[in-house]
Amino acid sequence: MLEKISKSYNPEDFEDKIYKSWEKSGLFNPDNLDLAESAPSYTIILPPPNITDKLHMGHSVMIAIEDLLIRYHRQKGYRALWLPGTDHAAIATQNAVEKKILKETGKTRHDLGKEEFLKEVWKFIDETQATILKQIKKMGASLDWSRLAFTLDEPRQKAVEKMFVDMYESGVIYRGERIVNWCPRCHSTLADDEVEYKEKTSELYTFYYSKDLPIAISTTRPETKLGDTAIAVNPKDKRYSKYLGKTINLSFLGVDLSLQVITDNLVDKSFGSGALGVTPAHSMADWQMAQEHNLEFKKVIDEDGLIKNDFSKYSKLSSLEARKKIVNDLKEAGLLIKTETIENSISTCYRCSSVIEPLLSKQWFVSVDKPIKHLEGKSLKQKAAEVVENEEIKFLPARFKQTYLNWVNNLHDWCISRQIWFGHRIPAWHREDEVYVGFEKPKEAGWQKDEDTLDTWFSSGMWTFSTLGWPDNYQNGEKKGDLAKFHPTNVLETGYDIITLWVSRMVMMSLFTLNEVPFKEVYLHGMILDGEGKKMSKSKGNGIDPMDLIEKYGADAVRLSLLTGVTPGNDSRYSEEKAEAKRNFINKFWNISRFIISSSDNKINKKAQLNTLADRWIFSKFLEIVENTNERLEKKDFSLATEELINFIWNDLANWYLEISKIEKNKEEILSCMLSGILRLIHPLAPFVSEAIWQSWQNTTLMTEKYPSISEFVNVENVDLKDFELIQEIIVAIREARSAHKIEPSKKIAAYIVVNKKEDLIKNQQALIKNLKTNIKELNFIEKKQAPKEAVFTIASDIEIYLLQEIDKDQELERLDKERKDLEKYIKIVKVKLDNSDFVKKAPEKVVKIEKEKLKSSTEKLEKIIEKIKNLK
Ligand SMILES: [Zn+2]
Repeated sequence: MLEKISKSYNPEDFEDKIYKSWEKSGLFNPDNLDLAESAPSYTIILPPPNITDKLHMGHSVMIAIEDLLIRYHRQKGYRALWLPGTDHAAIATQNAVEKKILKETGKTRHDLGKEEFLKEVWKFIDETQATILKQIKKMGASLDWSRLAFTLDEPRQKAVEKMFVDMYESGVIYRGERIVNWCPRCHSTLADDEVEYKEKTSELYTFYYSKDLPIAISTTRPETKLGDTAIAVNPKDKRYSKYLGKTINLSFLGVDLSLQVITDNLVDKSFGSGALGVTPAHSMADWQMAQEHNLEFKKVIDEDGLIKNDFSKYSKLSSLEARKKIVNDLKEAGLLIKTETIENSISTCYRCSSVIEPLLSKQWFVSVDKPIKHLEGKSLKQKAAEVVENEEIKFLPARFKQTYLNWVNNLHDWCISRQIWFGHRIPAWHREDEVYVGFEKPKEAGWQKDEDTLDTWFSSGMWTFSTLGWPDNYQNGEKKGDLAKFHPTNVLETGYDIITLWVSRMVMMSLFTLNEVPFKEVYLHGMILDGEGKKMSKSKGNGIDPMDLIEKYGADAVRLSLLTGVTPGNDSRYSEEKAEAKRNFINKFWNISRFIISSSDNKINKKAQLNTLADRWIFSKFLEIVENTNERLEKKDFSLATEELINFIWNDLANWYLEISKIEKNKEEILSCMLSGILRLIHPLAPFVSEAIWQSWQNTTLMTEKYPSISEFVNVENVDLKDFELIQEIIVAIREARSAHKIEPSKKIAAYIVVNKKEDLIKNQQALIKNLKTNIKELNFIEKKQAPKEAVFTIASDIEIYLLQEIDKDQELERLDKERKDLEKYIKIVKVKLDNSDFVKKAPEKVVKIEKEKLKSSTEKLEKIIEKIKNLK
C-alpha cells in the first residue's frame, strides 16, 4: 500500500515504483494467478521488435492495445499470458554493425573476418536489446518476463533446426538453382518482398548480335546478352518463320554464342523487332522460359557484380563498365541500331538501395506448392488460404482478409537461404556434390557445414510456438506444457504492413508443424502519422519520440492518447496536444478520486443506497458505462470505450454528481461503490494512475481485481433518465441565460417557473435547481399569466423560466430573434432527415424515434420564443 493519497499526481513519482511492485508480485506470469484449473487461457505473443530498434510510435500503439487486452482478460479471470521477446533481424542487425564498425575503425566485415565480426555483433546486441526492453516497461506493459525469448537464443536455435530438418524430410525444403534477387552490396539473396521498385530512366539499346544475323534485339542491359542462349519470337510472327527450330552460332563482339530460335506466346510481336534475346541466368522471366524449352544456362555476372571469366575482354569488369564498353563496341562495329531513353522500374535492395542483380544460384527453398502428406495432401499455400477462407483466422478489419488471400494465392517458393554471417546457420553439410541435412555433422571426413544463414522470417515465422516450448512440448502429435495451455494464441496484433512478410509465414509454419492455426484473430493497427497526416520520419524531423512524451505527460496519458481516434487498419494523425489533453484528464481523475477517498473509509459498498433522483440517475449511468465498456472491449472498439469512459468520469460524475454531493450530502457509499468500479474499469487503459489510487485506498493490487460487470451491482429499477435530464436542462438554461445577460456570478436572483405537468418533479428537485452554480435565491412557481414583464426569459424543453432582472428590451429582442433563427435552421435539418424515406427505412427504430422527439420539442420551443418576441414588442 502506498502512503496516504498525495495532493497531486506526478507520474514520475509513481510509475517506476508501481511497475516494480507489479514485477515483484509475479502476477504477470499466469502460473502465479489464483485460478481454477478450468480457467480459459488468453494468449498474445508480442511481435518481437528488432534488437536494433528504439521504441517508436508504432510500437507504442501496439503495446497500448496489447496490454489493454491482456489486463482486461487477466481481470476477467483468464489465464492471461503476454509473452515478450526480441528479433535478431539478421540483415538489419548485420548492416547496423557493419556501419558502426566502418564509422569507428574504417574497417569492413571482411577485414575483421567472420568470427571477429560476429563477436562485435553480439556485443552490439547486449547494448541495444536492453534499451528496447526498458522502453517497453516504461509503457507499463504487463509482459511475463520470466518467459522472455529471443529469435536467436538456444531454445529457438533448436526449434529452427528441428523445423528445417522436418521440412526437408517431408520434401518441403529443397535445394535448387533458381534466379534469386541478389544484392551485390549485402552479398545476399533477398526475398521477393524485400525488393523495392524504383522508377528510373534507362537507355534502351536496339542492335544486332552480329552482321551474320539480321534479327535485331532490344535491351537495357546489353552486358547480360553475353549469356544469351536463345532468341524467342511469337509463333504468329511470319517474319522469322525461316529461322524457327534452328540453332544459330555466331560471335557477339568476340564472344561465341549458340542461340536456339524458339517460339513463345509471351513475346510481344509489336515490341521492338518482335524478337527477344533470352538470358536464362539473369532474368526471372527468361529463366521460366528456359525451363519450358530446356535451354542452357550461362552465368555472366558473379556474386560481386563482376563479369565472370570466359567473356574475353569483358571479364572482370563491373556490369556497368561492361555495359559501356559493349555499347561502344557495338557502335564501332556498326551493329547498334538505336538508343532510346525509357522509363522503367528498377529493383533495389530494401536495406541498402543497391540495384538488384538477378542471379542464378543454388539456394534453399520452402516449396509452397508441394502436396504434404500429413496435411491431407494439401500444399502450404492451399492450407494457408483455407484457414482464412473458412474463418479459422479472422481479420480485423475484415477487408484485410482479401489482401491476405491475394498474397497467399500468388505465392512462389520461398528462398530461405541468405549469404550473410549473422543469423541461424542452416543445419546442412556438404561434401563435394553430396548434401546431408541433420542436427550433427556426419562422422566421415570431408563434410563442410553450409555457410549460409536463414532468412530472418524463418525464425520469426515460428514465433507463436517456438516461444511456447516447441519442439520439446510436442510429442507424437500431442501438445503438452505451455504449448497445450497457450496455443493457438488468441490474437496477433500488428501493423498491416507485415501481413505478407510475417503473418502468412506464421500461418504456414504453424500449420506445417502443429496442423493448427497460430492465432484465431489478426488485429491490424494503422500507422501513426504526424499532425498534418504525413509519415513520421527521423530525416524529416517530424517524428515524436514516445519516451519524451512519457517523460512529459506520463505513460497513462500517452496510452489514452494512442487509444482514442484510432480505428483498426486506418492510419491516424497524432500531435502532442493529444497527450496533453489526456494528462489533464488524469489530473482531474486523480482529484475526483482523492475527494471520494478522503471522505470515505476503506470499505467498498456494493449495495449502495440510492435515495434521490440524482442517485438513481448517476447509478444507472454508471451501470450503462460498465456494460458499454465491456461490450466495446469485447468488440475491440478501443477508441469508443476510452472516449465514453472519460466522458462519464469527467462530465456525469465530476461536473454533475460530485457537485450534487455537496448539496445533497451523505453520498460516501455510492461514491466509493462507483469509484471501485471505475478504477477496475479503467485499469487496462490507464494502469498506473488507477493502481496508484487503488493502492492508496485498498490493501490489494488492482491488477488482479475482478473486471466489473453489471451483475455485481444492485440494479436501478424503474428509473426514467428523462426526469433528471429535464432538471439538467433547466439548470443549464439558467446558467446560460445568466451568462448571456452578463449577470454577475455572485449575484443571487429570483426565478419563476411556469408550472406544467412536471410541477411535482421540479418542486422536488428545487434544491439542485437553486444551487448548482445557478445562484437562485428563491424559486417561485407561477401560472403563465403571472409571468413578470421585466425579466430574462429562457426555456428548457417546454418549461418557461423567468429570471428577475432588468433587461434591455432591444438587446433581448435581438437575442431572442437570433435564437429563433437558429431553431428554425435546426428544425429544417431534422425535417429533411425525417422526410428522407431512405433514412427512415434504414436507420434503427430508436434513432428515428429520437429524431422525431427532437423535432417535437424544438417546434414547441420555437412557438414559445415567437410568442415571447410578440409580447416584448
Ligand atoms: Zn543490399
